[in-house]
Amino acid sequence: MKSILSTIIFQMSIISMGAVSDKPDNYAFDGPGISQYLFEKCPVADGFDFPVGKPNARGYYNAQKFGKNLHLGDDWNGNGGGNSDLKDPVYSIAHGIVISAKREPQNWGNVVRILHNTGTRQKPVYIESVYAHLDKIHVRRGKAVRRGQKIGTIGNVGGVYLAHLHLEIRDTINKAIGDGYDRITTGYLNPTRFIKKSRPRYRKRKKTRRAKIRK
Ligand SMILES: [Zn+2]
Repeated sequence: MKSILSTIIFQMSIISMGAVSDKPDNYAFDGPGISQYLFEKCPVADGFDFPVGKPNARGYYNAQKFGKNLHLGDDWNGNGGGNSDLKDPVYSIAHGIVISAKREPQNWGNVVRILHNTGTRQKPVYIESVYAHLDKIHVRRGKAVRRGQKIGTIGNVGGVYLAHLHLEIRDTINKAIGDGYDRITTGYLNPTRFIKKSRPRYRKRKKTRRAKIRK
């Protein structure tokens, strides 16, 4: 009897341990790792802005769009060309939690990775944004960031590239950093398309309210 009871207690503890370490279905296990604490700390996003020329990418152009040359992200460059955008500010595209902020191998340079919740607190839907080739990093792993908050500056990886921001948006979270190019785009979203359909809505609502008040 005693042994049956202890077996039941043991099995219950396994079940509860399993619940604690459960990851979302779109979680890959080869990335920096996202703890339960960071998932719980992740705020709900209220919409998405562009990462440069806040909030609409004013003064910047997308030199290599998602899908071109098997590119897995967008390359944001200043309209001035060359290195004119070196050290320009880079902003978080939405509220989120920094899951990684460090130098990555090969020609990635300094990279910030941010987890976003596009669902609700009760039913979270997670995606990730990746900001690469940064000159400086202004955030640390575990830090909560707001949409439009400066997270770093545009870099050129010590002259490997002309200065630009490589931005990825991933719908599989916590993948390995990868190569930036691949024939297989599973786990990656077209960043510009995603941002355009996910803009914050409060600005329009405010204008409508004001217009009504004036009448
Ligand atoms: Zn790129």
